[in-house]
Amino acid sequence: MIWRIFCSFLCIFILLSIFSFCFSKNLEVSDQVCTKCKQHITGEYWTIDGKVYCRSCMESLIPKCYKCGVLCTEGYYNIDGYNYCKNCFYKYARCDICGSLLEGTFKRTDKGGKFCAKCVAKYPACDMCSGPAGPKGYKISPSRYLCPACAAVAIFTHDQLAYIYKEAIAQLRSLGLVITRPVDNLSIMDENTLKSYYYNTKSMEYIPSGGVGGFYSFSLNHQGSASRIFVLNGLSYEKTLSVLSHELTHAWQIENCPLDQSLLLKEGFAQWISYKVMINKGFRKEAELLLKIDDPVYGEGLRYILNVEAYYGIQGTINYVKQVK
Ligand SMILES: [Zn+2]
Ligand SMILES: [Zn+2]
Ligand SMILES: [Zn+2]
Ligand SMILES: [Zn+2]
Ligand SMILES: [Zn+2]
Repeated sequence: MIWRIFCSFLCIFILLSIFSFCFSKNLEVSDQVCTKCKQHITGEYWTIDGKVYCRSCMESLIPKCYKCGVLCTEGYYNIDGYNYCKNCFYKYARCDICGSLLEGTFKRTDKGGKFCAKCVAKYPACDMCSGPAGPKGYKISPSRYLCPACAAVAIFTHDQLAYIYKEAIAQLRSLGLVITRPVDNLSIMDENTLKSYYYNTKSMEYIPSGGVGGFYSFSLNHQGSASRIFVLNGLSYEKTLSVLSHELTHAWQIENCPLDQSLLLKEGFAQWISYKVMINKGFRKEAELLLKIDDPVYGEGLRYILNVEAYYGIQGTINYVKQVK
């Protein structure tokens, strides 16, 4: 089982600041001294807020528009550290949903979406990007929504899941974990169905407060054994791969690790494999999210295994979890 971290916790409202100044170009030939470089100016000079500057000092003081490259002589607007001229500000600094001008604070998502405070208050947050889901958003469970852009790339079908499962198998193999027996059953389902399976599964050991993104079940009786991975639907490709890597690690543990291993080691190692896969695939943000989990089992477990890795290396860590309880 793995924690699902809602990225809405990480997104912040960003202050939009507006800078203006009095600017003029003067063509009189006169004996002026540049306020900044102190050199005498012959020919054209510029005044900013009443102070005299030479061309190169003026250009170093007035920012260029991030969008169109023009010198922002009429003042500029700073959005997330980027400066926009007035024209570009009115053109681009608009809410992605309602189109109104962004003023004061607004929400910026990791995917580059920008939304006014009104839309943020009006619509439920998208489970994937944390921006408001908007009027065309999808409700995928009583408490989960996706905006149209995220819904278009979210994982919903068994075929998609099976494809990512193969990728997870290959990723684990490259880390040295070979799954000799494929998982018997792969299922993708909505939040409530997943929860009811989870709460009814005998292997349920620990309930994290952050929600369940997936889990692995293994049963053994006189007729044989059965293994199954359950995955929450509507997740991104990256997160689905992260969940599958974690759950497949549990499948590997069944055959390679002490069965009575502590939960901290079991889950910590599964999180560590997820973390490694995210790093290998270049999904840095997902990797960082795993590090930010502060759950006493999942978060602490990952940090514990990272310490083991720092000491013993990757192969040494795998040998460690094969032996230590
Ligand atoms: Zn787990
Ligand atoms: Zn100067
Ligand atoms: Zn511009
Ligand atoms: Zn809006
Ligand atoms: Zn979204």
